[in-house]
Amino acid sequence: MTYQPMPDEIRCAPKILLHDHLDGGLRPQTLIELARDAGYGHLPTDNADELAEWFRLIADSGSLERYLKSFEHTVAVMQTREGLARVAAECAEDLAADGVVYAEVRFAPELHTDGGLSLNQEIAELMVRYRDAGVAGFDIAGPEAGYPPTRHLDAFEYLQRENAHFTIHAGEGFGLPSIWQAIQWCGADRLGHGVRIIDDIAEGHGCGLPKLGRLAAYVRDKRIPLEMCPTSNVHTGAARSVAEHPIGLLRRLFFRVTVNTDNRLMSATSLSEEFTRLVAAFDYGWDDLEWFTINAMKSAFLPFDERLELINGVIKPGFAQLKWRGNKPLA
Ligand SMILES: [Zn+2]
Repeated sequence: MTYQPMPDEIRCAPKILLHDHLDGGLRPQTLIELARDAGYGHLPTDNADELAEWFRLIADSGSLERYLKSFEHTVAVMQTREGLARVAAECAEDLAADGVVYAEVRFAPELHTDGGLSLNQEIAELMVRYRDAGVAGFDIAGPEAGYPPTRHLDAFEYLQRENAHFTIHAGEGFGLPSIWQAIQWCGADRLGHGVRIIDDIAEGHGCGLPKLGRLAAYVRDKRIPLEMCPTSNVHTGAARSVAEHPIGLLRRLFFRVTVNTDNRLMSATSLSEEFTRLVAAFDYGWDDLEWFTINAMKSAFLPFDERLELINGVIKPGFAQLKWRGNKPLA
């Protein structure tokens, strides 16, 4: 009999999160309080439960553009040093409570200057300036159609010259060309989502084995990490359901797949919840969840020795304990 990880146990497993947006993970009550402090009167309700549900319904619209519109509310209340510090601290608390042992949380400094905070420099330069003070990497995000990553080629070339790490949102709202540009023109270390790489894989070809096109083969050969966010991808229409999400095939083909939350508030999720949904959809066991976790740790923008330490000192022992517990005979 195979033993399936249960939600409570998944929460205890040491997990790695590479793709989570600070302005997409606020606690609803915090959003209400910060809106009150800032005199922001455009929230649809001041009841925390109703607000959480409002975000979930807007997110589940099947359109990346509509999904992104809901961020106007969260960004509006994150315009002061105190507000940003509170949101960041609560994010760390919430992730730790969910069993996340290492996280790379993104935010866009240029969206938080309405209250008088300043940038000082271009964003890519800010990243390089603060890379030894907790800034792990650089990313671009937003509607992909009509906004190819090559629009920011100067920034990516600068980051490459500075030996800095970066990831690019691609292959979520737009297809293979955005993935190709992100990797072959911009030199991305990782792909945010990358779901549409599936368009370059023909299933049931020849003797029944999937056939990889040149771009898909390149992504797999080079072990380019895919920061997949199953629930968010369903919400924005990049996948029809979690059960039909390309992550199932990509995992079977041993792409460097990682599991992420994207926006915990909008998608009403957590990393444990994402794993729980994948277990239900694909019948994954502990070995699969550990594989996703080690993939993520290997792909983190953290020095190699620190990644190794977390893999050998935290992830493997943590999963070994959970597997051992699961294999115990019933009393
Ligand atoms: Zn994202």
